[in-house]
Amino acid sequence: MDFDKILRKHLVNLKPYSSARDEYSGSEGVFIDANENPFESVGGGHYNRYPDPLQRTLKEAIAPLKAVSVDQIFVGNGSDEPIDLLIRAFCEPKEDNVIITPPTYGMYQVCADIANVEVQKVSLLPETFELDANAVLDAVNEQTKMVFLCTPNNPTGNVLSSEEVMKVVKGFAGLVIIDEAYIDFTNKESYAGLILEYSNIVVLQTFSKAWGLAGLRVGLALADPGLIGILNQIKYPYNINQETQRLALVAVKEFAKKEAYVVELNKNKEKLNIALSQLSIVEKIYASESNFILAKIKNADDVFNYLIEHQVIARNRSKTHLCDNCIRFSVGTEEENERAVEVLKSYV
Ligand SMILES: *Cc1c(COP(=O)(O)O)cnc(C)c1O
Repeated sequence: MDFDKILRKHLVNLKPYSSARDEYSGSEGVFIDANENPFESVGGGHYNRYPDPLQRTLKEAIAPLKAVSVDQIFVGNGSDEPIDLLIRAFCEPKEDNVIITPPTYGMYQVCADIANVEVQKVSLLPETFELDANAVLDAVNEQTKMVFLCTPNNPTGNVLSSEEVMKVVKGFAGLVIIDEAYIDFTNKESYAGLILEYSNIVVLQTFSKAWGLAGLRVGLALADPGLIGILNQIKYPYNINQETQRLALVAVKEFAKKEAYVVELNKNKEKLNIALSQLSIVEKIYASESNFILAKIKNADDVFNYLIEHQVIARNRSKTHLCDNCIRFSVGTEEENERAVEVLKSYV
């Protein structure tokens, strides 16, 4: 795919900022090129040097884990950063549009709105929350630059049919952004394995959910090196700070621990599922391959407020398209889940 063809015209010849660390990336010598404090940080610690703008060490550790090469990886300040960058790189305000498939993650719309880029909505199918690839392809027009798909989907928890996803990938000439924020909780294959064959796929993953690094802000875009190069050109030079790079590297090296958390959370999810299904106010629990459960509940707004009054904070999705009277429960520790169920029982 020739990314320059779909890149916004004024960016084709962009001269990106060249930082001191871009111009010299060695680690030995006397560094008097970046106007840093040569001593140490006020408040303690050694944060006085600028971090690696391309996070090379971290990417070298991530590459084998994701079975991609270093130049197919973009590390972002959360996966929200590449969502924003993709829209700013490829979508001309007031001209181009993106397609999203509600009910889905809210940031696609927010980033497009901020950039003044039109959003076309193609609903998932009711109840199954399945993707309707033909409806997506029907909505595509000359100005459609990207389609956002989320699988497992937030807030519904289901994995989209890979046949439908691939129909979009093969039938659409623009970018298909596949958000895999919850990939760790399912045994379905990542689409990252297809980025070599289909250069219009951009896979998003995050360290915020299963990896427990939400507070650090680390997300990934996995895609063709040509596209990763464009994201690198328009990002802030030092988008991932030194401590975040260091701690994310520690996490990657301890990935077995992430797997253990996933096993535990999936077990807790099954228990929570059973407990919720025994409550008379729960009308339906949607099958979830993520670390949350979407449940249809009688008088959801009232139940949600009752939970809040008892200091149990779930997510009210009852105003969300196709999610009437739905509340989303993140899977917590066993104690947290038991407390939530206890409060729900007391409501009944
Ligand atoms: C949580 C979430 C993200 C955001 O992840 P960050 O890496 O924390 O920015 C992205 N997509 C979906 C679907 C999410 O649920």
